[in-house]
Parts: sequence; structure tokens; C-alpha cells
Amino acid sequence: MNKQQIFDYIESKKDCIIHVNDRIWEYAETAFVEYRSVDLLCSVLEEEGFEVQKGIAKLPTAFSARFGCGKPVIGLLAEYDALDGLNQKGGLAVKEPTSEEDAGKPGHGCGHNCLGAGVVAAALGIKAYLESDPAHSGTVIVYGCPGEEGGSGKAFMAREGVFDECDVALTWHPGPSFAVTNGSSLANYQVHYKFYGIAAHAGSQPQNGRSALDAVELMNTGTQYLREHMIEKARIHYAITNTGGFSPNVVQSRADVLYLIRAPKSDYLAELYERVNNVARGACLMTDTRVEIDFVKACSEKIRNDVLAKLIYQNMEQLPLPTYTQEEQEFAAALREQCRKSKTPLQMAVDTCGEALRPQLEELFAEDTALSEFLLPYYANDIPVGGSTDVGDVSWVCPTGSMRGMTTVAGTPGHSWQFVACNNTSIAHKGTLYSGKVLAATAYDLLNDPALIEAAKAEHTRRVAPEGYKCPIPADVMPRAISDL
Ligand SMILES: [Zn+2]
Repeated sequence: MNKQQIFDYIESKKDCIIHVNDRIWEYAETAFVEYRSVDLLCSVLEEEGFEVQKGIAKLPTAFSARFGCGKPVIGLLAEYDALDGLNQKGGLAVKEPTSEEDAGKPGHGCGHNCLGAGVVAAALGIKAYLESDPAHSGTVIVYGCPGEEGGSGKAFMAREGVFDECDVALTWHPGPSFAVTNGSSLANYQVHYKFYGIAAHAGSQPQNGRSALDAVELMNTGTQYLREHMIEKARIHYAITNTGGFSPNVVQSRADVLYLIRAPKSDYLAELYERVNNVARGACLMTDTRVEIDFVKACSEKIRNDVLAKLIYQNMEQLPLPTYTQEEQEFAAALREQCRKSKTPLQMAVDTCGEALRPQLEELFAEDTALSEFLLPYYANDIPVGGSTDVGDVSWVCPTGSMRGMTTVAGTPGHSWQFVACNNTSIAHKGTLYSGKVLAATAYDLLNDPALIEAAKAEHTRRVAPEGYKCPIPADVMPRAISDL
């Protein structure tokens, strides 16, 4: 079987892949409760002859699905969780919930429905290839990775050693352009600070009360001052999850604040985390309250791999990009208008590829088209994008290559209703299938040239030296759904 035959096989499974794409979009399940999405993915893979194991790494909605045997072992990372509050009608360029009662429910604002479906497409292509030549040694494993959003599912899986058997891992992410993704991302910690005080009548005996809410406010104020004395690329965000009730005439005995602390490097982040803890302790001293520091999750920064990125890029160059109908162009243009307040497509591309490529990108984006029907230039840098991904933890364990497939219009902000609106349309289907084919073709190259895997591994060893991977999540911390925070 050659690459074209692999593409033809994936094309023959198109209806199934689109079905997966759109059903997971509908299910829109959030971190660690993606039961229906997992059932669907596993049943498709099982039917195709993959050996499926659910509930790996002590996570009910994580799974592995393997095909083939022997070395090399190629891991494919699938995601399928949605974001809370982003319910939106698909294929509509106006903000509108799928129904009145669904307003405010979760939606696929990061396109993880496409991500899961595209990985299935890649897996089926690789399976067909391995099947065509039974003497060929090689294993493909789809890793069903739950809770990417706010959960760092892959970091928990990496802590349990799930990815240790992989020679390489491949994945993709949906977005507003076609690109290889060979930069870094921010490591992060999510920590719940829970303050305990003493309730009292706020009017008659305030002297006997100790306000947990005061402590939260002072912690947040302390953090504002801390921000001036940390590196520019670090980020500290918070959400007050418990204000202690609605009675101003009661001294609040309980208040909670959820922090997300980010930095480009894990070691710096560990230091910054201790400084934030000290701010929390300081707030306790000032208010005579107590704080419980509840570590929720963490993920590591992404380690790039130029060998894999170049290989993915070559395959992107070889496979013609999708073309779009008049109807798709019109919908895209209408949705593009709804993204005007976001970063420009040019700025988004500069953020991805780095400032050095701006002149080249200015040419590509000279025309303000709704669909970016071109491939962004190859890049390799260690510049972290503003966000984080738990793919970072896998990239510490084994060489990891990733790309972006276009599933939405130019300028679509991440985690937005506009993203949801596009991710179950034919524009998204094309990006999903394209990405699946590129990943399958990349795996084909890796299966046929052991030297590529050796080179990717040598680069990986050099980049993670000298310490290698250390999971940032303490051993006793278990993943939790949003409702259990
Ligand atoms: Zn995402």
C-alpha cells in the first residue's frame, strides 16, 4: 500500500469519520465525563479491529486502542472534551444556542470533536497499511485522552507511564489555518485556595469574626503586586469560586479562589507557585484565617521536535489542501465578520510561527479572506504560545509531532461560540480528514524508515536533558470533573 492508497482508504471511511466528528460535537461532554464520546470512539475502533482498553491510567474516560505488533510503536493522541457554557448552533454565523434550554451548556469551543475524529481517520489509514503487509512490524496505538480543558488528562496518563512504550507520538489540533505546530506552550498549575475563617454577626460582633473573603481579596491583591516581579511570559489568572454567600451582614467563614499559574518552563513555574502560596499564607496572617492549598492539576511545557515537524510539514506540502464550495465560502465570510474583534489572522499566524516570519506571513495574509487556503510556513522555535496544552507532558516522554488543520474561519478566537459554530460543518470535516491523512502519511514514513525514528529520539534526548520528565502533578492528586472542584 502506498500513501495514495492510504488516503483512498481514509476517504472510503469518510462517512464514519464525519459521523464521529458530528456526534461528539453534539454530545459536548466536559473534562472527565466524556462517556458517550468515548463509547463512540471505542466502538468505531473496535469494529475496525483495534484492541480497545477503557479506563486506563485510573481514568474512566481514558482509553487505548491498538493495532499491529512489534516496533516501532506510534502513538496517536485523541481528545474529545468540550468547554462549559459555549453551546451554539452549528453552521450558523450568529450567536444562538441549539435550543433555549441548552443555552449556557457546554460546546466544542476548541474543536476537540474534530481532533478525536481526525485521529480516528489517521488510525484507520495506518491500520489499513499495516494490514496490507502483515510481515511489516509496527504498532499504532490511539490514546483516548480525556479532560484536556482544565484537566490535563495526558499529564495524569504520563504520570502512570501510559506513553512509555511509544517511540513517537503524533497529534493535531483544529484551528483557523493549516500549519505545523513546532513551538512551545506554557506549563501550568491549577490550584484551589480554600480559606477558612469564623462566622459572626457583621454588625453586632464583627470583632469575633474572621473573614475568609477578606483573605481571598488580600490574596488577589498580593498577587497583583507579585505580577510586577515575575518574568513577562508568566501568567497568573484566578476565578473566585466561593464568595461565602450572599449575606453582607455575616462575616464570611468560607471563601475559595481557583488559580491558574503559567510559565514557559516547569522549573520557573514551581518557584512561582511557591511564591503564590506565600501570598496566600500572608493573606491568612493578615486576616487570622487558615488556608487549604488544593492542587488540582498541572501540565508541562511542550518540547518541540524538528525531525517530526519537518516530516509532517513535507506531508502537508505533498497533500493538496481542501477546496471549498461557494456555499462554504459564503458561510465563512459571514462568520469571519463575527470575529472582527479578535486578533487579526496575521497576528495569530505571527504568534504561531514567530516574529521572524512576519514578512512572509504579511504576504500570505495580504488579502483578507475568510478561509486561509494556504499552508503557513515551516517554523521551529521555543517561543511559547499564550496557552497551555497537556500534549506538553507527552512531548517530555517521547518525541511528539503535531500540526494544525483548518476547521474554522480566519481570525476565530479559541474557546468561542464562533469556533463551535464551525466545527460540525463541511469546512471542519475537510480539515479533519486532511489532518487524519497527513498524520497517517507521516506514520507511513516513520514505519518505513527506522532512521527517522532514531533521529527524532536523539533530538528528544538532547532537548529533555539532563533531568528528563518529572510529572508536575503530585502522586496523591487525582483528576476531578469541573463539578467536583
Ligand atoms: Zn484544544
